[in-house]
Amino acid sequence: MALKINDLCVDCDICEGACPNDAISSGNGLYVIDPARCTECVGHFDDPQCVAVCPVECIDPDERYPETREQLLAKLEGLRKHA
Ligand code: SF4
Ligand code: SF4
Repeated sequence: MALKINDLCVDCDICEGACPNDAISSGNGLYVIDPARCTECVGHFDDPQCVAVCPVECIDPDERYPETREQLLAKLEGLRKHA
């Protein structure tokens, strides 16, 4: 399941550099996560790195994108092929 950034985001920019998949970018006052690139950090880390570094705990699961661990690994493989 991809993650999403809610409107408590304070636009601090810490999470962008922490993402191993370049899934986070600056939006319109809030940072945003590209669900096509977010793997919950599966294949890189044990825990989502954006959640670990966010100072205001504003990153939640995005229920619109239910995915198994296998699907997340396949997504990562796809990202590596197109890197
Ligand atoms: Fe990037 Fe990992 Fe956060 Fe997804 S969970 S946006 S892959 S840091
Ligand atoms: Fe927003 Fe949290 Fe990312 Fe900072 S670390 S830009 S508060 S989501």
